[in-house]
Amino acid sequence: MSKIPYVERAYGGMGLTGECAYLWTLFLMNEADMEEDFVAYDKWKHMAETLQPSEGKPTPAAVHYKFLEDAISKYTKKDYVYPGSDPQEETDDEEHMSDNEHGYCPNCNKDLDGTLIWDSFFDMYGDVDKADESASMYSATREKGKWGLKIGIYDMERDMTTHWKCPDCAHEWPR
Ligand SMILES: [Zn+2]
Repeated sequence: MSKIPYVERAYGGMGLTGECAYLWTLFLMNEADMEEDFVAYDKWKHMAETLQPSEGKPTPAAVHYKFLEDAISKYTKKDYVYPGSDPQEETDDEEHMSDNEHGYCPNCNKDLDGTLIWDSFFDMYGDVDKADESASMYSATREKGKWGLKIGIYDMERDMTTHWKCPDCAHEWPR
């Protein structure tokens, strides 16, 4: 698959800029060609010719074609990819999210990761070696191991934490 073009919105998000629509049409024409879908290829080719800038016929400022929008949403998944944002970068963000150690609140989606455990000990002692030693008791290192922000609901009879509680919205859920 070729690189997915950017999506640039015009007029408050209702339409696409003419240039953007043209790039997408070319992209979809290429895709149809590779998939040997000749009906689709003809459709996109015709549209590309309509949108193609030429002398005395500037690219339209904004266009809104339902079938183009449908095709774009298949490739972008999200409704919007803002101009200049690279779909590749969003994947990186998702990978970054997987650094999460304590999960998210099932109700309000609060990130339940707190600060680094190592940082707390370093603040406490002001000493790298002591911080290393104390953090290691929590299996934490200088880069990994965060305090969890969720509150454990402790059951005295069962002598165990049975539920978690969100510090923000007070939602409780079973452990
Ligand atoms: Zn919550």
